[in-house]
Amino acid sequence: MNDENPYKSPESRANGVSREHVDQESFDEADDSRLIKLTSFLTIADAQVCQAVLRQEGIDSFLENEGSVGVNWLWSNAVGGVKLLVPEEHLETAAKLLGKVQTTEQAKEALGDITFECEDCGAEITFPGDRRGMTETCPKCHEYVDVPD
Ligand SMILES: [Zn+2]
Repeated sequence: MNDENPYKSPESRANGVSREHVDQESFDEADDSRLIKLTSFLTIADAQVCQAVLRQEGIDSFLENEGSVGVNWLWSNAVGGVKLLVPEEHLETAAKLLGKVQTTEQAKEALGDITFECEDCGAEITFPGDRRGMTETCPKCHEYVDVPD
């Protein structure tokens, strides 16, 4: 395939080069919905996993190379920093869906402190949000306690 010209206009999608980017171009022209950056990834592969999850739920998302656009997009596997953009009206749903995908300590932290009763001594004890689902030691009776999710 020797006609794979990166300077091609966005209208030409014959080669299937970076379909997401082309779609986003036409999306911007239509301007009937704003695209909001939901999150960013180090690699296109990571971003595409999340894109696939969103697509299953009927949400179209778009990828954009952080810091550079156009021709460089095709080389950005080596660059890192891929933005995941979703239409504004789907932002909240998409964020929840990706929350399920990326169950990170960070996400748990965002939930804030957790307070519960120790099973052994009945004391009310509090742990930081990132201890959810872990086993900790009760500060009162020093027995092991399971921190609720
Ligand atoms: Zn206790």
